[in-house]
Amino acid sequence: MSVVENFSSEPKAKRRKIEPTINESSSSLSSSSSCGHWYICHGICIGCKSTVKKSQGRAFDYIFDGLQLSHEAVALTKCFTTKLSCLNEKKLHLVLDLDHTLLHTVMVPSLSQAEKYLIEEAGSATRDDLWKIKAVGDPMEFLTKLRPFLRDFLKEANEFFTMYVYTKGSRVYAKQVLELIDPKKLYFGDRVITKTESPHMKTLDFVLAEERGVVIVDDTRNVWPDHKSNLVDISKYSYFRLKGQDSMPYSEEKTDESESEGGLAYVLKLLKEVHQRFFRVEEELESKDVRSLLQEIDFELNVESVE
Ligand SMILES: [Mg+2]
Ligand SMILES: [Zn+2]
Repeated sequence: MSVVENFSSEPKAKRRKIEPTINESSSSLSSSSSCGHWYICHGICIGCKSTVKKSQGRAFDYIFDGLQLSHEAVALTKCFTTKLSCLNEKKLHLVLDLDHTLLHTVMVPSLSQAEKYLIEEAGSATRDDLWKIKAVGDPMEFLTKLRPFLRDFLKEANEFFTMYVYTKGSRVYAKQVLELIDPKKLYFGDRVITKTESPHMKTLDFVLAEERGVVIVDDTRNVWPDHKSNLVDISKYSYFRLKGQDSMPYSEEKTDESESEGGLAYVLKLLKEVHQRFFRVEEELESKDVRSLLQEIDFELNVESVE
């Protein structure tokens, strides 16, 4: 049994399949005295059936409700996932923020007078980038505007990366937005981390892949205190009028960010470059690290811009 197969919703590998072997002694799940309580469901160890404290691991409710993994299980799963994903699929991992990175959402009552025309346009046949969303039991309505190039970006990035959504929004909100951008769960599967799991700062501890193989794209740098070297900054996308905004927003100007030269198109180029450098020499895969590649690319871009 492979640890990864149990917790990954990835399709079966297309290329050569490499199966990890788990050392029997390290994964012994038989008696409670020798059990490491690796996999816990609603506080009960799956291996030995004993009760396990929350502090003895990390909750992964986004994979399935009540799942908790021990720190050892997390480390091993991260390691295997990255190894298998590199060898079998030639994919890295990509963590994407939602708000102001992939889209912009506002509450309908906060629209300016000049933006009110959008309420009619949302979800109409003429617009596939603007939607009205509303949670069951919540009277508040929202408008969500997808960033230009988003659909192409997801389709292309999906060829090189296994993707996660990581938002400070609620699970209900994330679900509604994903219904718009990934209704068939082709891109994100259940890899959606929200404030339910991660209410404060964002961390790669919840992402089941080794940090050396994970790229983050987020418009807000300071929510990632420990993983800035994995982070690719993206320009903040705002479509609607923001509080205190002096300039005209896209919504009122009836224009938008450029498809071909906007934030997502730029970031996609960079992501492809990172991927290409990571997989350039197969023998070096084990030692490759996106953090040093991002630094390298950043340095080259700076040199270019000075020249
Ligand atoms: Mg954001
Ligand atoms: Zn146990």
